[in-house]
Amino acid sequence: MLPSTCLFCGGICLFSIPICSPCLKGLPILAHSCEQCAEYLHPSLLSNNKSRICGACLAYPPPFDHTFALFPYCFPIIEVITKLKFQHQLGYTKVLATLFIQRILQSWYKNKSLPDLILPIPLHDKRLQHRGFNQAYEIAKPIAKAFMIPVDFTGVKRIKNTQAQSRLSSIDRQTNVANAFVAKRSYTGMTIAVIDDVMTTGYTITEFCRVIRQSGAKNIDVWCCARNQKLG
Ligand SMILES: [Zn+2]
Ligand SMILES: [Zn+2]
Repeated sequence: MLPSTCLFCGGICLFSIPICSPCLKGLPILAHSCEQCAEYLHPSLLSNNKSRICGACLAYPPPFDHTFALFPYCFPIIEVITKLKFQHQLGYTKVLATLFIQRILQSWYKNKSLPDLILPIPLHDKRLQHRGFNQAYEIAKPIAKAFMIPVDFTGVKRIKNTQAQSRLSSIDRQTNVANAFVAKRSYTGMTIAVIDDVMTTGYTITEFCRVIRQSGAKNIDVWCCARNQKLG
């Protein structure tokens, strides 16, 4: 196997994915987090809260059951996502998908069965035309292939061409994504993994999951590359 170049430092790497060993070891680790939404959970809460669910999820349960995040949303993951989405550096999808596959095998699904279906969060047709690809779909494809799980790319349509969430206030973000998706099929009784690149406030993912839950999904797990956590 020929050595390739590390996407992070430009050094030589011997893995089948373009990241070298020191860069891989240096990637940030997600803090203690809520099992349901992956928001930061103070370690002192873990001892008396066996289920590891945060106060917000207990008070207002989201329409998904579990959130698995690869990384916290910080350096250099922000750069990875930005280069992937806006500079079309699709080499990063291979790194992220491989890390997802490892994590799924070694921890997330070690003691539970894999989902029936993977649903990448869809982009609006106009956004897809402009960007040329959907990053969530690109990451989902190799994972789906590795575990022989089908990817559903057409079952839910994004009918609202929403503004970029990052430019809006919290309340505007919620309004922006309201009724943005519509399900074109039934998901009755299915266990579904919803995949997206970043989960910040979670409004987009929540709205998407609400729609597939209404269409019958029994269990919904969220897989995201990066989770924005409010530390403190
Ligand atoms: Zn490197
Ligand atoms: Zn939570």
